[in-house]
Amino acid sequence: MSSVVIVGAGEFGLTAALELRRRGWDVVVLDAGPVPHPDAASTDISKVVRMDYGADVIYTEMGEQAIEGWRAWNAAWGRELYHEDGFLLMSRERLAPGGFEFESCAFLSARGHRLIDKSAEDLRRDHPAWNAELYPEGYLNPCAGWAESGQVITCLAMQARRAGIEIVEGMRFGKLIDCDGRVAGVVTLGGGEYRADRVLMAAGAWTPALLPWLQNVMWATGQVVMHFQPGDPETYRAPQFPVWAADIGRTGWYGFPATESGIVKVANHGPGIRVDPHQPRVVPAAAEEYFRTFLRGTFPALAEASLVASRLCLYGDTFDGHFWIDHDPQHPGLVIAAGDSGHAFKFAPVLGGLIADVVEHKPNRWAGRFAWREPSGVSGEGARALAQNYTRAHHKLSK
Ligand SMILES: Cc1cc2nc3c(=O)[nH]c(=O)nc-3n(C[C@H](O)[C@H](O)[C@H](O)COP(=O)(O)OP(=O)(O)OC[C@H]3O[C@@H](n4cnc5c(N)ncnc54)[C@H](O)[C@@H]3O)c2cc1C
Repeated sequence: MSSVVIVGAGEFGLTAALELRRRGWDVVVLDAGPVPHPDAASTDISKVVRMDYGADVIYTEMGEQAIEGWRAWNAAWGRELYHEDGFLLMSRERLAPGGFEFESCAFLSARGHRLIDKSAEDLRRDHPAWNAELYPEGYLNPCAGWAESGQVITCLAMQARRAGIEIVEGMRFGKLIDCDGRVAGVVTLGGGEYRADRVLMAAGAWTPALLPWLQNVMWATGQVVMHFQPGDPETYRAPQFPVWAADIGRTGWYGFPATESGIVKVANHGPGIRVDPHQPRVVPAAAEEYFRTFLRGTFPALAEASLVASRLCLYGDTFDGHFWIDHDPQHPGLVIAAGDSGHAFKFAPVLGGLIADVVEHKPNRWAGRFAWREPSGVSGEGARALAQNYTRAHHKLSK
């Protein structure tokens, strides 16, 4: 039986562990924290699940198949951790070719998805929390929603243990074991040794800090997330308030319907703040006002809600916004599965299969996108706000 040590029990590590175990591998997973780790990117109350990726066929296909997978997981777990409430994407300008909403809408419609056009009038009538004056056009994709991400990780970890996978908590990666020029396992910071045929590094935003030769292609980026508690949570529940994106390609703003306890999460899929993943997480003092300024324009009533939690969550960004899933050409025996670039959670149901195919050198129609590559200045992932004016605002935020 082949064996693998996986470093990191987030979404990448656990989905790969489950799939490799299913294929007959002997699997051990090490994680620095408890699982789910409170600081892991995968651990939060919610993550957007969507197939809307402009005209990008790979992410669209992955999203379509992942949504099938989320429905199957709901059925298998007997719990609805994926909520198919829909995804409402509004634009501050009329939809036009080249824009994220226009391209996603056209591409998905051509693939047979039934999207619902939204005018300012529709917004005013069907989604009253929005300031319709600012958003003339957009659409709703009913085949989308959000996942209770922290709970999903708990379920995957339970499933992994039941499948015979050992998950070792509180175990920090120290270094790779080199055996005649081949990676043969890891040594932990406490000096423990875990030997295996393969090491899969899935330590999220920490990965480039643990394997410094990756620092020219990936790094950790801090992203502020805020949880608000409005006095009237019903206004912020689906269907009138599904997962939303407020001109996301230009502004980065997106968020979620109220949870059962009435929490509305708001975040920004933007450039963020480059950070050292091992340093304490500090939410910039100016962030709350920055969020409230956005809310005052887009959801005026929500701007008055109490802020009940805020968090700096780390993206493991790559230079081009695509994940990094491949054998390390300079370190035989080592496979990297990281570089989530802030948009991988939705793909959890298809990620394990993709990573396992790469580990086993099996053909996979999507793997080329995530293969080892030379750095370039290109930015790839759709709906990531990189606009100059936003970047300037974020620099102010980080002060
Ligand atoms: C603010 C925010 C919002 C997001 N929103 C969305 C969204 O709406 N939709 C979406 O699809 N995606 C979203 N994402 C992205 C998604 O969360 C990530 O793509 C995904 O969770 C990454 O999983 P991971 O397994 O790579 O990393 P993580 O979940 O961070 O897991 C890495 C694990 O490695 C462990 N580790 C670290 N160092 C060590 C060490 N030295 N030794 C052992 N273990 C170690 C950590 O403890 C951790 O458990 C968001 C991310 C953030 C930060």
